[in-house]
Amino acid sequence: MYKRTKIIATLGPASSDAETISGLIQAGATVFRINFSHGEPEEHKERARLVREEAEKLSANVALLGDLQGPKIRIAGFRKGSAKLVEGAEFALDTKHPADEGDETVVGCSYQSLPADCQPGQTLLLDDGRLQLQIESIDDTRIHTKVIVGGVLYPKKGINLLGGGLSAPALTEKDLKDLDVATDMEIDYLAISFPRTAEDMHYARECAEKAGCKARLIAKIERAETVADDKTLDDIICASDAVMVARGDLGVEIGDAGLIGVQKKIIRRARQLNRSVITATQMMETMIENSIPTRAEVFDVANAVLDGTDAVMLSAETATGKHPITVVEAMSRIALGAEKQRSTQVSGHRMDRQFQETEDAIAMASMYAANHMPHVKAIICLTESGNTPLLMSRIRSGIPIFAMSEHQSTLNRMALFRGVIPRYYDISGNNRNTLLSDAVEQLKGNGFLSKGDIVLGTRGDQVGEGGMTNTLKIFEV
Ligand code: PGA
Ligand code: MN
Repeated sequence: MYKRTKIIATLGPASSDAETISGLIQAGATVFRINFSHGEPEEHKERARLVREEAEKLSANVALLGDLQGPKIRIAGFRKGSAKLVEGAEFALDTKHPADEGDETVVGCSYQSLPADCQPGQTLLLDDGRLQLQIESIDDTRIHTKVIVGGVLYPKKGINLLGGGLSAPALTEKDLKDLDVATDMEIDYLAISFPRTAEDMHYARECAEKAGCKARLIAKIERAETVADDKTLDDIICASDAVMVARGDLGVEIGDAGLIGVQKKIIRRARQLNRSVITATQMMETMIENSIPTRAEVFDVANAVLDGTDAVMLSAETATGKHPITVVEAMSRIALGAEKQRSTQVSGHRMDRQFQETEDAIAMASMYAANHMPHVKAIICLTESGNTPLLMSRIRSGIPIFAMSEHQSTLNRMALFRGVIPRYYDISGNNRNTLLSDAVEQLKGNGFLSKGDIVLGTRGDQVGEGGMTNTLKIFEV
């Protein structure tokens, strides 16, 4: 049985050497996240280089995902390194306060629009919601608050407004610089942090095009306003190639009780709108320290798999944690377990839908046939752009989709799609009349198929052109 759910491993100091990266690939990670919120361009480039090198050694097709920091609003620093805020005390944020001169009464913040974006009575959340401040009054550049939940506050911690509404634009100057670094690295996916609307994603796409970046775009869904109504969410999904349920910031803005329903909705809508979807943050949090997950973490990963996510993501667990490889192994095991549930393998098949394109009709017909014929071992999809395998993998199934392409960028990208196994195949160098049967031979040679297996194959008549899939064939190996 092949694992269908993909695992994204964030790279960091704990995963920057060839051996660990190779171990992560072998344990089941297929996408590597470069987090531009931390580290220097040279470190990122070196990690990206190692990923490509190790993947090649293992003949694995993996994707690189560059994650831009975005307009994460943060407090400045403290004179004594940190400050202890006590419940009930007065505390101010001031955009004119000197950067490293914070104390128990006030701290700076470089985001100049903060006072304009806030109102008395609202709640500010610091450090992912660990500390809470109630806004009492706003006086020019200074926001006066009362501490509702106290604790020790460290420099550079994030600020969120409960309910959302901070107006910072989606790409900062730092993001534009990092975009150039990401372009140099030839990343496959670019994640945009804190987009508010589809407009922000269109703008990000313009910036990426201008920079010469060919990556597909991921919208991180992490603001309250993006999930406040169905239209905003649908529009932002449609403006993106994939979306991320970024539960860290989203949970802080909408509250944890709302998060469970929102995760299910984002995953469902993304799949219905033919986009891939990632579930992220704190999935295996205790494995930053421990070598086994808690039961709650096991069930969280399994639940996302049952919800239909393409990928589950690890952040600090692999970037700075003590057991980067063990955590990917554990996640693979849990995903495989959850995928045995019948609900992940059957589908309502969009019975009520009209298909707009030939490609769409072929993809849906393949999945219908594969799911309803006994003993089908595999679906083989010859692809230029990766679009047909994406469409196929929007339908739940237990049958592996071998997506064969001669383009490395397509193979990399497909490493994110649930149930899709990307394999290199020299399509244009092959005899056109025997394309599918030769693909089967190749998979047989690699041990993926055996004689007597029933397989479904799709291809286009026009080799070399994307979007031209028009043939479905059913045959025995
Ligand atoms: P981050 O995004 O890790 O870059 O903050 C993910 C999230 O907010 O969940
Ligand atoms: Mn975030």
